[in-house]
Amino acid sequence: MVDEAFKRQPVEVKLPAERPSEYFGKYVFNKQKMFKYLPAAVYQKMCDVIDNGAPFERSIADAVAEGMKKWATELGVTHYTHWFQPLTEGTAEKHDGFVEHDGKGGMLEEFTGKLLIQQEPDASSFPSGGIRSTFEARGYSAWDPTSPVFVIGDTLMIPTIFIAYTGEALDYKVPLKKALYAVDKAATAVVRYFNPEVKKVVSNLGWEQEYFLVDEALYAARPDMVMTGRTLMGHDSAKNQQMDDHYFGSIPSRVEEFMKDIEIQALELGIPCKTRHNEVAPNQFELAPIFEETNLAVDHNMLMMSIMKRVARKHGFRCLLHEKPFKGVNGSGKHNNWSLSTDTGILLHAPGKTPMDNLRFVTFTVETLKGVYNHNGLLKASIMSASNAHRLGANEAPPAIISSFLGRTLTDLIDHVEAATEDALSVAGKTSFKLDLPSIPELMIDNTDRNRTSPFAFTGNRFEFRAVGSEANCASAMLTLNAAVAEALTDFKARVDALIEAGEAKEAAILKVVREDIKYIRPIIFNGNGYGEEWKLEAAKRGLDCETSAPLIFDAYLSESSVKMFESTKVMTRLELEARNEIKWETYTKKIQIESRIFGDLCLNHIIPVVTKYQSMLIDNVHKVMDIFPEEKASLISKENLHIIEKISDHESFIIEKVDAMVNARKVANKIESEREKAIAYHDTVAPLLEEIRYHVDKLETIVDDEAWPLPKYRELLFIR
Ligand code: ADP
Ligand code: MG
Repeated sequence: MVDEAFKRQPVEVKLPAERPSEYFGKYVFNKQKMFKYLPAAVYQKMCDVIDNGAPFERSIADAVAEGMKKWATELGVTHYTHWFQPLTEGTAEKHDGFVEHDGKGGMLEEFTGKLLIQQEPDASSFPSGGIRSTFEARGYSAWDPTSPVFVIGDTLMIPTIFIAYTGEALDYKVPLKKALYAVDKAATAVVRYFNPEVKKVVSNLGWEQEYFLVDEALYAARPDMVMTGRTLMGHDSAKNQQMDDHYFGSIPSRVEEFMKDIEIQALELGIPCKTRHNEVAPNQFELAPIFEETNLAVDHNMLMMSIMKRVARKHGFRCLLHEKPFKGVNGSGKHNNWSLSTDTGILLHAPGKTPMDNLRFVTFTVETLKGVYNHNGLLKASIMSASNAHRLGANEAPPAIISSFLGRTLTDLIDHVEAATEDALSVAGKTSFKLDLPSIPELMIDNTDRNRTSPFAFTGNRFEFRAVGSEANCASAMLTLNAAVAEALTDFKARVDALIEAGEAKEAAILKVVREDIKYIRPIIFNGNGYGEEWKLEAAKRGLDCETSAPLIFDAYLSESSVKMFESTKVMTRLELEARNEIKWETYTKKIQIESRIFGDLCLNHIIPVVTKYQSMLIDNVHKVMDIFPEEKASLISKENLHIIEKISDHESFIIEKVDAMVNARKVANKIESEREKAIAYHDTVAPLLEEIRYHVDKLETIVDDEAWPLPKYRELLFIR
C-alpha cells in the first residue's frame, strides 16, 4: 500500500472556460434564477421573504415549485430531496423522484408546492433524545426559504428544518434561526439609540475550515481511521511539525488539484471560497470563504464538508475532519468569525468618526462580552465533543476555559471609558454630547496581535470563536453565542430605558450602563498566555468554568442560567435542552465505545500476534547462538536480544491485561441506565485506558521489525502525498 500511495499522480482539474464570477452560483436557485423562472409577483414575494423575513405564503408555493422544477429539469435533474441537519454529525437526505402516478396507469413528472414545503421522512432512527418515541416516529422537514435550493448531480437539494410531530426541534437549524431572530430583535432595539433608521441587524459568520488529507491506500490499511476518523495508536514520526516547513511551504501538486476541484464546485454552489493554505501540521490545510449571513454560512459549511469528503476520493485521498487525527501534531479547528451588522455597516467595526459611533462600538463590544461571560460554561459546552476534547486544552488550541482576548487598543479604550472622570464624560443637554474617547487608529484592524491561545479573540471588526472543532456543525456554537448576546442586549436596553424614564439623557444613560457592564465583564477579559498553568489557577479564582470532562461540561446546558437564557430568548425550551443533552451524552458514550472496541481488536488481533512472532524469532536466534558458541560468549552475544525479548514481554503482558480491564470497564458502564452517568463512566474509566495502553503499543512499534508492523506509520500517513 505504501507503493501504491507513492505511485499516485495528481488528477488534473480543468478550470471552467468562464470566469469564477460567471459560474458562481450556477447550481443555486438564487435571486437571478428566481427572476428568470418565477412570475414577477411571486418573485417579489420571495425577495420579501429572503430580505425582510416576511412569512412564506402557501399560495405561492406551487408557482415557486413549478419554476424550480423547470430550472432543475434543464440541468438534467430527476430527483429532489429535503436536506436537513439532524443532531448527529453531518446532514441527512431522502431522495424522491419527480414522478407520480397520472391516474391513467402511467407516470408524470410532478413537483408541487406541497412537496417543496413539507416532507415526512421516516426518521425514527435519528436521535431525538426521547422527545419522539419510535412508535410515533413522525418528524416533519419543512423548507427554509431563506437558504436557497441547489442542485448536486441529478438531485434538487432543498434545505429544510426538522421538527418533531409535537413541535420540538430535532435539528440545529430551528434553534439557530430562532437565535438569529432573537439577536436581530434585541440588537435592532439597541442600535436604534444610535441610528433610529436601522431596520434589521444581521449576524455574520466567516468560518475557516481546517482538515487533513491522507492517501486513500494508507487510510484503508488503518482500521482505526476507517472506524473512528483518527489514529488510536502510532508512534511519533521523527520529523513532524517541529521545522514549521509545511506551514510556509508550497502546496503539493496533488493537493493543489484537489483544492482547485473543491473550489470550483463550491463556487458553482454559491459558496464564496477565497483563501486556501497549508496549516501547521504536515498534510494539514485550511479553506475559508468570505463571511455570509450566519444561517446561510452554516449551510454552506455543511455542504462544503460533504464536498471535501466526496472530492478527496476522486484524488485518491481521504479528507479527515476529525479534531485530532494524529497524536503529537496539531489538531484541526474551525474558527468561527462572528459579527453583527446592519444595513448601514458592521456594528463591531472600530474606528468610529463621532463620539456616538465610538459609544456604539463600545456598547456592542461590551454587551457581546457580557453574553460570553454570563454563559462561558455553556459556550464551552456548545463546542465540546468526544473528539474536540482531544484538542481543547492540549496546548495547540485554546484551553478548556472560555475567555476573551481584546488586544492593547481595545483594552485601553475600555479602561479609558471605565476610568474617565465625570468631567471627561460630561453630557451637556440632550443634543450636545461630549465624550472624550481617544481616537482609535485605523491601523487597529490589522494590528490586533494574533493571540492563538485565546478561544474568543477580538480581531478588528469581529470576534473569532477559535475553539470550535473542525468536524462540528457551526450552528451549535452560533445559536448559543447569538442567543447569549441577545439576552445581554435585552438586559442592557431594559436598564438604559429605566434610566431614561427616570429623567436621564439617553447618552448619559447608555454610558452609565456600559460603565457598569465594563466593571462586570472584567473576569472574562484575558490578554495573556492561555496555555500557562497560572491561567488555570487565575481563571478558577475569577469564577470561570474550568471543567475539563466532556460529560460534565454538557451539564452547563441545564444550569438555571442557561435554561433561563434559552427560554427568555425563545430559542429552546427546557424539554428540548434536556432531550439534546441526552443525545450529547449518548453520542459521547458511543464514540468512546467504538474507539475502545476497535482499539482492543487492533491490540489483540493485529499487534500482539505480530509482536509474538517477532519475539519468537529472537528467542530462536538466542537458542541458535547458544548452540554454536560456548556459554560465556553466547550470553554476551545474546545480551541485547535477551533484553528486547524481556521488554516485549513486559509491554505485551501490560497490553493484554489492560485490554481485558478495558472490556470489563465497558461492561460495567454499559449496565448504567442514565445516559449522563454512563458517559461519565466512559470518560473516567474507559477513555484513560486507551491512552495508557497506547503508550505500550507505540513503544512496541519502535522495537519490532518494520517489515512486520501491520499498520502504516505516522511518517507514511503524514508525509506521503
Ligand atoms: P485570518 O487572518 O484569521 O485567517 P481572514 O482575514 O482570512 O482571517 O478571515 C477569516 C474569515 O473571517 C473569512 O471568512 C472572512 O470573510 C471573515 N470575516 C472578515 N470580517 C468579518 C466580519 N466582520 N464578520 C464575520 N466574519 C468576517
Ligand atoms: Mg482566523
